[in-house]
Amino acid sequence: MFDIWILVQQREGSIEAPTFGLTAEARRLVSELGGKGIVTAVALGSVSLEELASLGSYGVKRVLNINTDQINRCQGEYFSQALFNAVKKESPACLLGAQTPESDDLFPRLAGLLQTSLVTRAMDFHMDSGKKARAVRPLANGYLFEEVEFEWKDMPLVSFLPSVLFDTEPDSNKDAEVIKLVPDISTDALKTKITKIIEAAPEDLDLEEADIIVAAGRGAGKGEEFNIIRQMAKAVGGTIGATRPIIDWGTLPYEKQIGQTGKYVAPRLIINCGISGANEYTAGIEKSHQVIAIDKNPRARIFRFADLGVVGDLHEILPQVISRIEELKK
Ligand SMILES: Cc1cc2nc3c(=O)[nH]c(=O)nc-3n(C[C@H](O)[C@H](O)[C@H](O)COP(=O)(O)OP(=O)(O)OC[C@H]3O[C@@H](n4cnc5c(N)ncnc54)[C@H](O)[C@@H]3O)c2cc1C
Repeated sequence: MFDIWILVQQREGSIEAPTFGLTAEARRLVSELGGKGIVTAVALGSVSLEELASLGSYGVKRVLNINTDQINRCQGEYFSQALFNAVKKESPACLLGAQTPESDDLFPRLAGLLQTSLVTRAMDFHMDSGKKARAVRPLANGYLFEEVEFEWKDMPLVSFLPSVLFDTEPDSNKDAEVIKLVPDISTDALKTKITKIIEAAPEDLDLEEADIIVAAGRGAGKGEEFNIIRQMAKAVGGTIGATRPIIDWGTLPYEKQIGQTGKYVAPRLIINCGISGANEYTAGIEKSHQVIAIDKNPRARIFRFADLGVVGDLHEILPQVISRIEELKK
């Protein structure tokens, strides 16, 4: 039996999209390993029980909800120990997660405790019952990729780039069994303590984490003109991204660049403002769910990727959109 475990990605108690992509990867691995194992999801902290049970319709057989009243955030030191205890009882074949700040904190600690292999930033991952595992990871901003091979004995840990985790549809109405586990670990022994959570302004959020992105291109302009993009991001509660010219002008730092030589993003909504839609840019937004484009050129390539296209001058359109949003918020 080769069981595959996945780590549920949650925010404020709700399951986030990469989790569903992980269910698909886990089912593929179960089948590659002979089809005899099951998919188990592990949810850390307080998550809606109804949402956890609904993972059954994505092929998850059971959910282990590791939760405690003692800690209300994902604290790597605590939960790596709790996961270590759970894993040791069952010896699954593998644990998959999405690459997030939480898994960045958790997986290296857990790999250390288990003395096992860890693959980060995975784009593809395979393992066979002959104990061979193979992963592909990006190098040098995605210009190069490396394939790594290793022998797996104990449960390897793999964190996938969220941008490669495809949305998947439920294929049954089954509920997963949800099992609650309260770790028997004292918080007194923890070496680290979270003393404060500092909320970032939505416009400064990491692009790979953002739900809503307002993306600016050359058409957004420089200096004072660019403020309209900041105002739009604030109005919709989104973060700002940009094409290469905006970075080259020094208007925004490199970590805000989207595209082949920037970041690959997968937000719920991306609003492209004054972006022609060059290949090198659109490669980075392909996984976005809803795409809006505003451009004064009706033949701009970006419109081929848009669910909603608006032809016109963004400096005339955006102030109207912002004032309407502000009205609706009242
Ligand atoms: C090896 C290589 C790697 C690259 N990597 C990247 C990358 O990672 N990311 C990236 O973005 N680019 C990358 N590029 C550059 C890429 O080829 C394009 O040059 C770039 O994406 C164009 O950016 P843009 O759409 O902002 O500008 P433009 O192509 O100049 O488009 C500006 C758009 O704004 C519109 N516009 C102008 N004024 C207004 C207005 N007032 N209102 C509405 N619309 C207006 C225009 O009609 C036009 O469609 C790369 C290039 C190379 C060669």
